[in-house]
Amino acid sequence: MAASPLVAGRGEDDTMGFDNGRGTGDFGNIRRVAMISVHTSPIATLGAKDAGGMNVYVRELSRQLGRQGVAVDIFTRRSDTFAPDIIEPFENVRVIQITAGPTATVPKETLFNYLGEFASEMALFGLRDGVSYDVVHAHYWLSGWTALLLRRYWTAPVVQMFHTLAALKKEAARGALDGQESSLRIESERRLIARVDAIVAANARERAEMIWWYGLQTSKIRTIPCGIDLERFFPQDRAAARAELGLGPAPTLLFVGRIDPVKGIDFLIEGYACLCADWHGVEKPRLIIVGGELTDGGLGPDLARVRERAMERGVADGLIFCGPQPHETLARYYAAADLTVVPSRYESFGLVAIESMACGTPVVASRAGGLAYTVEEGRNGLLVPYGDVPALADALGRALGDDTLRRELGAGALVTAREYSWADVATRILALYRETNAARRAALTALPAVAAGD
Ligand code: UDP
Repeated sequence: MAASPLVAGRGEDDTMGFDNGRGTGDFGNIRRVAMISVHTSPIATLGAKDAGGMNVYVRELSRQLGRQGVAVDIFTRRSDTFAPDIIEPFENVRVIQITAGPTATVPKETLFNYLGEFASEMALFGLRDGVSYDVVHAHYWLSGWTALLLRRYWTAPVVQMFHTLAALKKEAARGALDGQESSLRIESERRLIARVDAIVAANARERAEMIWWYGLQTSKIRTIPCGIDLERFFPQDRAAARAELGLGPAPTLLFVGRIDPVKGIDFLIEGYACLCADWHGVEKPRLIIVGGELTDGGLGPDLARVRERAMERGVADGLIFCGPQPHETLARYYAAADLTVVPSRYESFGLVAIESMACGTPVVASRAGGLAYTVEEGRNGLLVPYGDVPALADALGRALGDDTLRRELGAGALVTAREYSWADVATRILALYRETNAARRAALTALPAVAAGD
């Protein structure tokens, strides 16, 4: 097993001569970015356990940066022997498989042991390929730790995006996720926050919480939301979308996402059961579930548990399990739905809510994390206190039973979604890269003068 990266032993700016300290040599001009996504590939199947918003974020941000003329190398851990070493999914973007640890899917919790190997393999790749980077952009704490280890080889500044922070997730879920997050993760996130050059928060609340919980310097954080692809998510005819999915006219609720306790699907099944118990319409509402894992024999274990719970509540016949669906087909599901439900215990941002809004489908969401910013009560959707089953059932019943309300919320949703284009997000991220790179270069240039007692 590789040595623990925690005891790697070299100072954080202690380079080994792999990088001349000048990146591409052009101050303020960002030409090449190393994007790190250790535990999950940007081209993985979405909706499964560890593949969701972060994968979309890395892929779409890289694509936009590539369009804007920046070369992006995305480094991810090899878990499949047959995956090509390098693929180029978009203009100026490469996905590079790094071998570190077993070439197999391993629990995320064990990956920390392989980060030292991952970092040195990345550095070797840079040497062999003859490239250096102006910025390292790390996603999730495991990649952030790798970026810190890379400081032994490279001098590029590190921009960190956590996607979720363990301490905030635990706090927000009020005991429901106890035991899920290791103290190693919590401690590493604390150290990362102190040591990276800049941090991207997805909204003002996340920013405020980082300052409050971690004592983060405000100058290090930039609040930049996530984006969505407005060419992919746009309104479509509801009846046609339903026909394509083989659905009839019954009122339709939609859930899209990973089946993880943080997503609150248990809360949704309870709310759906109460809604059905009080429903007076001709056709009972149905609930479409997109995401989770299917097996040859049917539902994977997480989805099977969801069905069991629905059976206990007597509503399993109203559930339609679609399994994970490719991102490019999701607009049809959003268009087919009357409402998208996002019952999460915690969301750093919550892409699903905005994707649904971009398709003109209003959202009923819990007032959790980023959702409290994107979903505006009575404007583009309805908000309920997280875990409040009667409130959720009431909001669903109210919106499903009132066509005018849904039309108004749908119109508001379209307006909201336009604020979140990837092109704008990429432009803001690029400005942060420039600023961080310039600050890092200035600090490095100043070092010899100080050493000489100047
Ligand atoms: N997604 C998908 N197919 C699925 C399930 C999810 O493409 O079967 C996508 C979804 O469209 C969204 C992302 O996965 O872009 C989930 O992001 P979100 O921020 O809502 O949740 P996270 O996974 O980050 O917790």
